[in-house]
Amino acid sequence: MRIIEGIPEMQQAAEGWRSEGKRITLVPTMGYLHEGHLELMRAIRGHGDVLVTSIFVNPAQFGPGEDFERYPRNLERDLHLAAEAGTDITFIPPMKEMYPEGYQTYVNVTEVTASLCGRSRPVFFRGVATIVNKLFNIVRPHASIFGEKDFQQLVTIRTMVRDLNLDIEILGHPIVRETDGLAMSSRNAYLTPEQRRKAVRLNRSLTAAQALVEGGEKTGELILNKVREVLAEGDDVRIDYVQLCDPQTLREVTRVTGPTLLALAVHVGVARLIDNRILYPSA
Ligand code: AMP
Repeated sequence: MRIIEGIPEMQQAAEGWRSEGKRITLVPTMGYLHEGHLELMRAIRGHGDVLVTSIFVNPAQFGPGEDFERYPRNLERDLHLAAEAGTDITFIPPMKEMYPEGYQTYVNVTEVTASLCGRSRPVFFRGVATIVNKLFNIVRPHASIFGEKDFQQLVTIRTMVRDLNLDIEILGHPIVRETDGLAMSSRNAYLTPEQRRKAVRLNRSLTAAQALVEGGEKTGELILNKVREVLAEGDDVRIDYVQLCDPQTLREVTRVTGPTLLALAVHVGVARLIDNRILYPSA
């Protein structure tokens, strides 16, 4: 596996592969890799000839007071894991090249970012769309992959690619979970053992909602109340949002009459964790 640390070098390499007719694939990450990231690499490997994984903790998607400074990092381990999962190039752009002095251009996807995480993290999706667009311009991938754990992020990227006519295939990948059901996340590292035990409630609450819907329940408020009940707010557990949305537009819905996204964000200790599930109404 080759490591590329400069933007010009990355652009040159991409130009070279393209002129040889090779297909480039990209997995953008913020590092501190876990099985969720590695699954994305394995899933997209077969879609191209060169697999680039980028590692960059993007300051533009963190708001004031969020965890940019203390976001977990372990580059040596990441390089080892990325190589094992089939990454050909790990791209680690320097901060000063990504956001040089005088930087002032941002990509704003408006409607699908208005709900869910967009409400509590106002600059988040602008930061995500901007960095992903920059990575697309530098790495020039033919295909890129994003996890459904960050469902709103995936919808935002798809919308950006469509609206800006980017010629890039976007793949989604199902949520990868720990054996007890907790969605894998670099931020799980923030949890104490006791908080880690409480964190399984996120997935459990989604499962409880799914059972209700499979049993014929369609009333949004009743389903959301069930989720809130299983999450059981208290010491260490505080709900940011629990919401039902149309999975395409991400507009809120009050009844489950077709495939519906149930999404939640919950603070467990200092960690803000997200999870989601698509609910299918019973026939
Ligand atoms: P991050 O490093 O958190 O920015 O995530 C990089 C990519 O990995 C994003 O496309 C995430 O959606 C994806 N990802 C992170 N955790 C998971 C997971 N548990 N399952 C599937 N994809 C994930």
